[in-house]
Amino acid sequence: MHGHSYKVRISAESDKLNPSKYLETPDMVCDFRELKWASKDAEKGGFDHGVLNELMEVNPTAERIAEYIYKETDQKIPDGINLKVTVWETEKSWVEYTE
Ligand SMILES: [Zn+2]
Repeated sequence: MHGHSYKVRISAESDKLNPSKYLETPDMVCDFRELKWASKDAEKGGFDHGVLNELMEVNPTAERIAEYIYKETDQKIPDGINLKVTVWETEKSWVEYTE
């Protein structure tokens, strides 16, 4: 087992604005807090300081991490938002996941 410091970018695109858990009026695509869940500490449901081999059921390749973050994020945000998740394992090694 070894460690990585991953960098993740999530792009969220929508034709309309939505309300959120924190804002009743339809004025945002989705809340930044809901996009940033994975950067929370593992003890709080995110990935930071976590052992990915234990947090995920499949091998934590960059591809699977991107897929996992995509699917978990998609469940947390309103319908009709197109997501794209980019995961950098190193500066020159990265993957992009979208559906
Ligand atoms: Zn590695």
